[in-house]
Amino acid sequence: MELTIKNLDKKYSNGVHALHDVSLTIQKGMFGLLGPNGAGKSSLMRTLATLQDADSGSVMLGDIDVLHNRDAVRKVLGYLPQEFGVYPRTSAVELLDHLAMLKGFESKAERKQIVEDLLVKVNLWDHRKKAVSSYSGGMRQRFGIAQCLIGNPKLVIVDEPTAGLDPGERNRFYNILSEIGENIIVILSTHIVQDVRELCTQMAVMNHGRVLFSGNTDDALLEVRGKVWEKKVGKTELQQYQNDYKVISNKLVGGQPLIHVFSETPLNSGFIQAEENLKDVFFAKLNELV
Ligand code: ADP
Repeated sequence: MELTIKNLDKKYSNGVHALHDVSLTIQKGMFGLLGPNGAGKSSLMRTLATLQDADSGSVMLGDIDVLHNRDAVRKVLGYLPQEFGVYPRTSAVELLDHLAMLKGFESKAERKQIVEDLLVKVNLWDHRKKAVSSYSGGMRQRFGIAQCLIGNPKLVIVDEPTAGLDPGERNRFYNILSEIGENIIVILSTHIVQDVRELCTQMAVMNHGRVLFSGNTDDALLEVRGKVWEKKVGKTELQQYQNDYKVISNKLVGGQPLIHVFSETPLNSGFIQAEENLKDVFFAKLNELV
């Protein structure tokens, strides 16, 4: 099954043009949608999850017309929004059972099996009797994935899932997602480059409602391969370098700025060639250097 988004456009009533002629083709596997805050990622995710309308354009999931056949989409969709509420004092088992009932699983025995399988899958079996409202951030996100997977969806959408997770929790979450992504389409919307680098074979970069790149993660790296140069500079020189070169990014290393510069031709005067990474691609795209 393939997800095909064509010429999707959305303007909010306050005049913000959140989606600008967005076209993407997404295959089975993990797809990373990368963009800074305000890029339009959630607007796109909510549209795909049938929670809001687009002004124009089309979205097809296999042969389902997503914008006009919401019920059919919802049967094959799992959605983990940025924020999701849980009932206080309700255990993971109870809540998943309830959600499975809402999804149409009427047999109690069948629901029991589904709930058990999902809790094992997301490593929450030992915590199944605790209230979800008392879970840590990472446990809550894993519970969120479990509820997404009720009914074996063909498309799973997760919006900024790793924000606020510590490295251990993030890793556990990555492992679960990558397992899921082997069989279905998983769209991971994030502003964290590491999420995409570690998990996704396909990706897109968005900013100001537009798609700036879409394709394989490896192809994204090719766009800057051999063209990224780095140099440690003095803090007071930073502005001058920014005027004179196509500076992709700067970060402090041992208190001193280390700049990454994009250049098609070799740079002398203390620059050395840097091994390109996805962050270079991301910032080069955002700053429209490539
Ligand atoms: P992201 O998920 O990449 O942070 P969003 O899709 O949330 O981006 O937002 C894209 C733009 O649309 C932002 O400028 C945001 O302020 C605006 N926006 C988002 N939702 C609404 C809304 N319901 N009404 C008006 N403007 C909105």
